[in-house]
Amino acid sequence: MRNVSINSFGGPEVLRIADRPTYRGDETKVRVDVEACGLNWLDVAVRSGHSGPGIRLPKKFPHVMGADAAGRIGALGMDARSDLRIGDRVVVYPGLSCGECQFCRIGETSMCPKFELLGEDTDGVQQEEIWVDPRNVAMVPQGLTTEEAAAIPVAFTTAWNLIISAGAVRVGEKVLVVGASGGVATAAIQLAVSAGAVVWAGTRSPDIFARSLNALGVSELFDTSTPNWSTFVADLTDGCGVDVVVDPVGAATWKESLRSLRPGGRLVACGASSGDDPGISIRELYQAHKRIIGAPLGGLQSFRSVVDTIATHQIHPVIDRVVPMEDVHDAHNAIETSNRMGKVVMRIDNS
Ligand SMILES: [Zn+2]
Repeated sequence: MRNVSINSFGGPEVLRIADRPTYRGDETKVRVDVEACGLNWLDVAVRSGHSGPGIRLPKKFPHVMGADAAGRIGALGMDARSDLRIGDRVVVYPGLSCGECQFCRIGETSMCPKFELLGEDTDGVQQEEIWVDPRNVAMVPQGLTTEEAAAIPVAFTTAWNLIISAGAVRVGEKVLVVGASGGVATAAIQLAVSAGAVVWAGTRSPDIFARSLNALGVSELFDTSTPNWSTFVADLTDGCGVDVVVDPVGAATWKESLRSLRPGGRLVACGASSGDDPGISIRELYQAHKRIIGAPLGGLQSFRSVVDTIATHQIHPVIDRVVPMEDVHDAHNAIETSNRMGKVVMRIDNS
């Protein structure tokens, strides 16, 4: 059974296509024959062995990569509690949690003190077969390809937290999404539009991405490579600022993101790929009643809600490219250079 794995941390060259015997999971689980895997910044962070606060790393090598998978149900454990049937098209939520604590009991499984992620703490999904708890499985919404479904788990469950659970975006609010061409950002734009917000975006390459972002419903675009770009946001809001800024970028954009907010506005954070220390002014924050909200991957309840919303609103995740497993190195390069619009998806040949 082929997989993408690493034996050490490093650059894309440490990624390898490996083989290992098939196995049978415990009888409470279901087997998903994986057909497509979405890649995330997480894959780059795990491969590189990034360390620091809030970062977890694999406990052993070899480590199978990947958190996002979609495919078909290939087998059902004897004791699997599920209505799933062989052949069902499914998408997998990668979070593992204790199932018993105060957070798990209300579906906020990603707040569980024992929360772990497939592909981060434990072996991931970039392999031909995975055995998972049926609770972590949802049916692929009608009208979506398997590749589109594979773009859902991390990006859209995080975006649900950014826009709905933590961001609490209301109809008519102005939402500015920076780093706008990334996977989480494009998902956040799509969810904010479907929630009835007025959606603006910031990117370092507005000329390249303008047409695609406008097609998603973005009505104003800002060049975040321009110094003091928050002044342009102020100009369009009578000097006031927007209600919400979604910032998956981190240190490179936080100062200007915070300055783009109206008094009482919310900065919703879900990433720090450009750095972890934004050097912001505390006075600028509290004097203007502004709020900073952390919104990482949502829990199982958020995953189910976002899959339902994608089905109801017929949202198609934005896919930059689909590559075969053999091109996983190129896929990582594409994510690291940010030279893309939406998700990079890897096909797993399961025939
Ligand atoms: Zn728990």
